[in-house]
Amino acid sequence: MIKALKGMKDLFEPENKRYEFVIQTSTNIAKKYGFELVQTPILEESSLFLRSVGESSDIVGKEMYRFVDKGGNDVCLRPEGTAGVVRAFIEHKMDRAGVKKRYFYHGPMYRYERPQKGRFRQFHQFGVESFGIDDPKEDAFIIAMLKEILDNLGVKATLKLNSLGCPECMPKYREKLIEFLNKIPNLCEDCLRRKELNPIRVLDCKNSNCQMQLKDAPLVTDHLCSSCSEDFKNLQEFLTILKIDFSLDPWLVRGLDYYTKSAFEFISDEIGAQSAVAGGGRYDRLVEFLGGKPTKGIGFAMGIERLLELAKPPLEPRSGVYLGVLSESATKKALKATYELRKKIKTVYEYELKSLKSHLKQADKSECLWCACIGENELIDDTVWVKNLENKEERTVPYSTFKDGSWLTMD
Ligand code: ATP
Ligand code: MG
Repeated sequence: MIKALKGMKDLFEPENKRYEFVIQTSTNIAKKYGFELVQTPILEESSLFLRSVGESSDIVGKEMYRFVDKGGNDVCLRPEGTAGVVRAFIEHKMDRAGVKKRYFYHGPMYRYERPQKGRFRQFHQFGVESFGIDDPKEDAFIIAMLKEILDNLGVKATLKLNSLGCPECMPKYREKLIEFLNKIPNLCEDCLRRKELNPIRVLDCKNSNCQMQLKDAPLVTDHLCSSCSEDFKNLQEFLTILKIDFSLDPWLVRGLDYYTKSAFEFISDEIGAQSAVAGGGRYDRLVEFLGGKPTKGIGFAMGIERLLELAKPPLEPRSGVYLGVLSESATKKALKATYELRKKIKTVYEYELKSLKSHLKQADKSECLWCACIGENELIDDTVWVKNLENKEERTVPYSTFKDGSWLTMD
C-alpha cells in the first residue's frame, strides 16, 4: 500500500473547516489592516534560501527539500515564506520605486524535520511582510494585528519580545558572546557548529546542559546602541498603550544575519513542547542581502497546524435543503427541482430510493436545515413535502414555489 510520506498528512472534514476558519479569519483581518495577498511559487532556486535564511540555520543546514531539476537547476521547496516574497518584491522593482507595501501570504512549507506533535515536514503558514517603514509604530501595528488574529481565533498565547540590535551594536555584542562561549567547556554538538557559523543561535539551544551553562551569558539587550535602545523602548510603550501584554526575553533569537531590532514570538502553553504558534521580527537588511535597494522590512509567520489545535470556530448553523425521493417516478421531477433550487440555496439531492425514515436520518447527518421528499402523493398533487429539522415543523408546498425557492421566505 502506498502511504503519504512521513511528516505529511491528508486533511479531511471536520479539520478542513477549522483550517478554512483560520485562513478566512486571518485574511479578513490582514485586509482590514491594509495588507494585500501575494502568491509566490512553492519551488524556488536553492540559492535564494542559502543567501537569505543562511547556511548556519537548521532550515538550510539540515532541512531543505533540495534537488536538481531536469534543466540542471538547483531548486528547493520553500521552507518559509519571507525569502520568496522579498525576491518577488525586488524582481518586480518595488524596491526601486521606494513604495511602502504590505503583503500577506499563506500556503504549504517544507522542512525535513523529525516529525512529532506540532512538527511536520509539510506544514502551512500564514504570514505577512511589510516593506519600507522604519518606525517602531509599524512593529506595534504588526504585533497588534497578529494579536487580533489570535484573539479572533480564540487562541490564548503570550507574547515574548526581544531586540537583536543593528549592524552597529550587534557585532560588538557578538564578540562578547563568543568570548564567553569560548570559556564554556562542553557545549552540545549543535552549539559547537552554531558557535562557528552563527553564535547568537547558541542562546536558543533547547539542550538543558547548554542552557545551564549559558545562564550567565552576556545579553543582547544590555548592549544595544542608543538608536536601537530608543526604538525598543518606544515599541514597548506602544504595546502598553495598546494594552498588549508582553514579557521581555533576551534569549529569544532568530539567529539569521538579516534580522535586526525587534524579534517576537507568541507561545501557547496548551499544545505541548512545540509551543510557538507564530514568530516574526524586523529584517532591515534582507532586501539588500538579496540584491535590492536597501528597504526596511518586518513580518511574521503563524503555524497553521498548531493553531488548528487551538482555534475555536463558531458552531455553524444548519443550512440548505436535502431532497429525497420515495418512488422511482419522482426522480426526474426531483432532479429538475434541485437544479433550480441550488441557484438560491445549498441543495443536496439523494438519488437513491429510500424510506422516509432513512431520508430524514440522512438529512440530519448532512447538516441541512430542511428535509424535503417527493413520493407518489406529492406527484399526484404537484407538491413537495418539507420538514424543518430544527423546529420539526412539517408542511406541503406547491412544486413551483419549492423549486424557485420562494417557499423559504413564506410562513
Ligand atoms: P520552532 O521553534 O517550533 O521550530 P521555528 O522558529 O522553526 O519554530 P519559524 O520558522 O519562525 O519557526 O516559523 C513560524 C511558525 O511556523 C512557528 O512558530 C510554528 O508555529 C510554525 N512551524 C515551524 N516549523 C514547523 C513544522 N515543522 N511543523 C509545523 N509548524 C511549524
Ligand atoms: Mg524550527
